[in-house]
Amino acid sequence: MKMQLKLLLFVCRITPKKTEQNKQLIMGKRKSRAKPPPNKKMNKVDTVFCCPFCNHSSSVECSIDLKDLIGVASCIVCLESFSTTIHALTEPIDIYSDWIDECERVNNRKGDT
Ligand SMILES: [Zn+2]
Repeated sequence: MKMQLKLLLFVCRITPKKTEQNKQLIMGKRKSRAKPPPNKKMNKVDTVFCCPFCNHSSSVECSIDLKDLIGVASCIVCLESFSTTIHALTEPIDIYSDWIDECERVNNRKGDT
């Protein structure tokens, strides 16, 4: 039985980011025991934001496609998404603030008419 639990933990650890909450849980538990590895200078930045539509915190994930120069922010809870053109220095927060700007623009436009 203990073997199974160990296996489950292992599977959780190698499961790709789909289960963001699980990962955070695991990382949170592990944090008290061991320091996180310092070699975190990867291209992939795990940045999550609060969704402007469903107001879930940390449900918006941004992905950056430098090949097509497209940045996509999407909410894993309500599945709203926003895509915008980016450049080499664009960061997830830029895509997210673009989205917020766009939301405000739409809201203002509604107010005008
Ligand atoms: Zn949402």
